[in-house]
Amino acid sequence: MADVLVVAEAADGKLKKTTHSAVTFARQAAAALGGTYSILVIGDALGDAAAEAATLGAAKVLVAQASSLKDYVAERYVPTVAAAAKGAAVVVGTASAYGKDLLPRVAARLSAGFASDISELLPEGGKLKYKRPMYAGNAYGICTVSTPVQVVSVRQSAFAAAEPTGSTSPIEQVAVVPPSAAAERVEFVSFDQVKSERPELTEAKVVVSGGRALKERFNEVLDPLADVLGAAVGASRAACDAGYAASDLQVGQTGKVVAPSLYIAVGISGAIQHLAGMKGSKVIVAINKDADAPIFQVADYGLVADLFATVPELVKQIQAA
Ligand code: FAD
Repeated sequence: MADVLVVAEAADGKLKKTTHSAVTFARQAAAALGGTYSILVIGDALGDAAAEAATLGAAKVLVAQASSLKDYVAERYVPTVAAAAKGAAVVVGTASAYGKDLLPRVAARLSAGFASDISELLPEGGKLKYKRPMYAGNAYGICTVSTPVQVVSVRQSAFAAAEPTGSTSPIEQVAVVPPSAAAERVEFVSFDQVKSERPELTEAKVVVSGGRALKERFNEVLDPLADVLGAAVGASRAACDAGYAASDLQVGQTGKVVAPSLYIAVGISGAIQHLAGMKGSKVIVAINKDADAPIFQVADYGLVADLFATVPELVKQIQAA
């Protein structure tokens, strides 16, 4: 029997949706290994996060709460996560910015092999194999980890969010392990969060994304469409590099990976590096004046048109509907 530990991500007193994808992985892995899964909720002001985690079918929810964990600094979190992982065969989180920062360090602390950004679990005879995208999603590699403890980060868009099970897991407080003297030298300076009324890009059901073609009119053209659809705004790297869109909106291989129900690509050519971040979207709509643009190869609905005329018209039609 082998157990799985989910490292939850909490913010503003709530679990982030990223946690639910890691729980889906944990359910599959625990079933394959004949074990159970627990969820670790770590931080300072955790609010309802632990109670929410307790609805997700875990054998138990571990809570590590201390004022020293107020501002996220990997070096302060790692010793506690590693201690909570005692007895677990697999430690999992989501490959969000948080998971990408924290989990490799947890793996190093546990002398564990690390399978990053996996898109599918392939159980085989009580062992776990992991499928992960390579070369901007143009190839998939299958890997196994041979260390006694394995650390895994999962691609949020590839694992559906776990639903509550109807039961309530027991909640246990665990000790917070102080960091080493060397780690104490890392100081939290500030966290400059971009405040937006819009849904978070990686969690939104609808994403309206713009490319270089929008030029300085990026916000003027896209914002009204995002507003009428209650959508998050994304961008291509070319639009970000040119300064038309903020860099945290970048979707793609070197940006965010999104898989909303609806992705509207406006004036985006569809380079493979962009597709790597959005081709898992359920329905893709492309607006581009070039009928041969590669984005149309992945689009469910395509409109060959000038975006500057089409997008305002689309907004008008949606408002009138
Ligand atoms: P373009 O390729 O210039 O396309 C603009 C499109 O707008 C064209 O198809 C054009 O027909 C259309 N258009 C122009 N005017 C209009 C109009 N009036 N109406 C309608 N359509 C119009 N890119 C990403 O997006 N994300 C990444 O994470 C990323 N990572 C990268 C990593 C590496 C290592 C490298 C090398 C590249 C990466 N890129 C990434 C860049 C990528 O290769 C492309 O250069 C980029 O995606 C192009 O952005 P674009 O589609 O906005 O611009």
